[in-house]
Amino acid sequence: MRKNIIAGNWKMNLSLEQGYGLASEIKWMVSDEVSNKCDIILIPPFTHLSGLNSLLKDSGIKLGAQNCHHENSGAYTGEISAEILKSVGVSYVLIGHSERRTFQNETNALLANKINRALENEIQAIYCFGETLEQRDAGNAFEVNLSQIKEGLFHLDTSQIQKVILAYEPVWAIGTGKTASPQQAQEIHRFVRQALTEKYGEATAGSISILYGGSMNPSNASELLGCEDIDGGLIGGSSLESRAFLDIIKAID
Ligand code: PEP
Repeated sequence: MRKNIIAGNWKMNLSLEQGYGLASEIKWMVSDEVSNKCDIILIPPFTHLSGLNSLLKDSGIKLGAQNCHHENSGAYTGEISAEILKSVGVSYVLIGHSERRTFQNETNALLANKINRALENEIQAIYCFGETLEQRDAGNAFEVNLSQIKEGLFHLDTSQIQKVILAYEPVWAIGTGKTASPQQAQEIHRFVRQALTEKYGEATAGSISILYGGSMNPSNASELLGCEDIDGGLIGGSSLESRAFLDIIKAID
């Protein structure tokens, strides 16, 4: 059976001290309030990863990075590779977040390479995809999501795709306070699982976690997380506050 996952993407927020404070609170609250409900992943800025790896040791909470380069090493000033991330205890990496697709012009072809580097280094990729409001309004949401999935992921074989987590993040819902309705999210999740079934077969498609991301908060989490094909959440704003993040974890049934 596929896993339920709640991942907190801190983006470019929190000083080192603030990050340690938040992670410590979450660690304590998780051990006090929830047991084995789901996999929990914290995704802080790169600078926090090594220290948080020590702080979260033995807590069961896993560490993710927000990006990696498409090569393992070399003359790429300012970049971080999957190989380096592995050396500081990272288990997951976000690939294709819409903010990077937009501000860094990341293409599906580039993202496919990044996924290869992550998997080579035994880091699970969390592959983000989603349509803009214009694309949805033009009736192209299904087509856009399918091409992001096909071009980013369909070069992988069955054993590789099983190490990828998908995250449907409609661009219009990220950081806007405007959440997709459970029906809107579920229909895209179901459509994507169907595409995975056609490519990799039912058993494999049924074992892949597909997260929803886009203004998820404690008030809307349980309805979204209750949908059949939604296997967890990728949380931005609400992951910066320990109580809100814990309440989202607790909304998983
Ligand atoms: C995100 O950045 O992945 C995200 C879902 O952000 P927010 O929850 O703030 O919309």
